[in-house]
Amino acid sequence: MFIKTDEYLQQLIRENRPWTITAILLRIANHYYQMQPAFIKLVQVMDDIPDPSGYLHAELHKVWGTLPRELRVLFRFTEHCLPKVVYNAALRFVLDKVIFPYFLASGQEAYAEMRSRLEKEGTGTVMDFVGEEAETAKDAGDYQREYLYAMTRYAKHIAVKPSSLVPADIFSKGTFDDHKQALKDALRTLFFVPRFSSATAITVDAEEYFQWCKLTEDAVLELLLSDEFCELENVGIALQSYRKDVMRSAKKIVDAAKKRGHPIRVRLVKGAYWNSEHEEAKKRGAAFPLFRKKENTDTMFELVLDYFKDHSDQVRVSVASHNAKSLGHAIDLRDENFTFSVEILNGMGESIRRALMWFEIPHSIYIPCVPPNKSQASGKHYLARRLEEISDPHGCMMTNM
Ligand SMILES: Cc1cc2nc3c(=O)[nH]c(=O)nc-3n(C[C@H](O)[C@H](O)[C@H](O)COP(=O)(O)OP(=O)(O)OC[C@H]3O[C@@H](n4cnc5c(N)ncnc54)[C@H](O)[C@@H]3O)c2cc1C
Repeated sequence: MFIKTDEYLQQLIRENRPWTITAILLRIANHYYQMQPAFIKLVQVMDDIPDPSGYLHAELHKVWGTLPRELRVLFRFTEHCLPKVVYNAALRFVLDKVIFPYFLASGQEAYAEMRSRLEKEGTGTVMDFVGEEAETAKDAGDYQREYLYAMTRYAKHIAVKPSSLVPADIFSKGTFDDHKQALKDALRTLFFVPRFSSATAITVDAEEYFQWCKLTEDAVLELLLSDEFCELENVGIALQSYRKDVMRSAKKIVDAAKKRGHPIRVRLVKGAYWNSEHEEAKKRGAAFPLFRKKENTDTMFELVLDYFKDHSDQVRVSVASHNAKSLGHAIDLRDENFTFSVEILNGMGESIRRALMWFEIPHSIYIPCVPPNKSQASGKHYLARRLEEISDPHGCMMTNM
């Protein structure tokens, strides 16, 4: 896309049409990557600073020399000729009313609206609450209530983060088993909703390796093997293919499904915590548990999919990726025995969604939603991470999802 744009631009210049609106816009678009860090920083601090336009220009001046002349003229014009109050209001408007709703739902109503619009086009949705982990038992209780309310009132399929259900303060005391019990207690309450209403589903997100990987897997599988939930098929877990030991987990899931005689849902992802895991492994003096090369993560993603195809009676797979090659591999594996759905993040893969609709492949949009009683600011870090991912589509910078 980038190269094509460049070629088109060169053609416009050759044809002596470099000053048409299209040419100018394309030229600006081709320089967006230099300016992107400034915009991302602005998104993160916008709600805490009195003068966003001043901040933006201070950041843009750091890359001033690399910008084309027409952009510099445009920025100089806005900086000097636009009244600050108008400029700041315009920036806030664009961020809050245009960019933010493109990636996130600002609350229950916005989510319900997106859900009904997408459902009319044959696209499902998964609701996820953005925000920080639960610090205290009260935070965890609030999240649990909101998940329950969402499932019973406005969301059919929710994504649940273990870190929102187990308060961070319990990790300073107790054993692994105490922490697992706390997670199981919280999940058990939620699992009753899909148990009594087959129209609802839960996927438990995969979070940081050292703290959550084993805890989450053990808690979810133990619950799914218990008498209460051994027939439950609309609950599952996310699995990260950047983990060197991911195949062991895939086998554990398949074995658990065989034991209970009912399939388990799995959302296969690549993993979103590479940088922080790296820091954490160093801090703990532990071996790095993830692949160091992206090709290995991609290959493992395909190998796990192959393995699930071989055990298609035991798993209900969702393939969560925006990578055409990874999705292509999954689509190649499809047959009458192995079907799956695709999940994509809201705002990150509209063209993929259109293609999936065209091929009639079941798919859902994962929509992060601002929890009730929280301000839009709680979604700004998520938004900044998505903007970074767009500027770094091959995941080299890697940020937490
Ligand atoms: C619907 C949905 C739900 C998700 N849920 C979760 C979740 O529960 N938990 C979670 O952790 N993530 C989750 N993710 C994020 C996911 O893990 C990826 O970070 C994101 O989708 C980018 O991967 P990709 O296949 O789309 O893109 P690609 O560009 O193909 O892959 C980028 C990914 O490759 C991996 N990678 C990049 N460089 C390296 C390297 N040097 N060594 C090893 N690996 C590398 C990283 O995992 C990086 O995220 C979810 C994504 C989607 C779409």
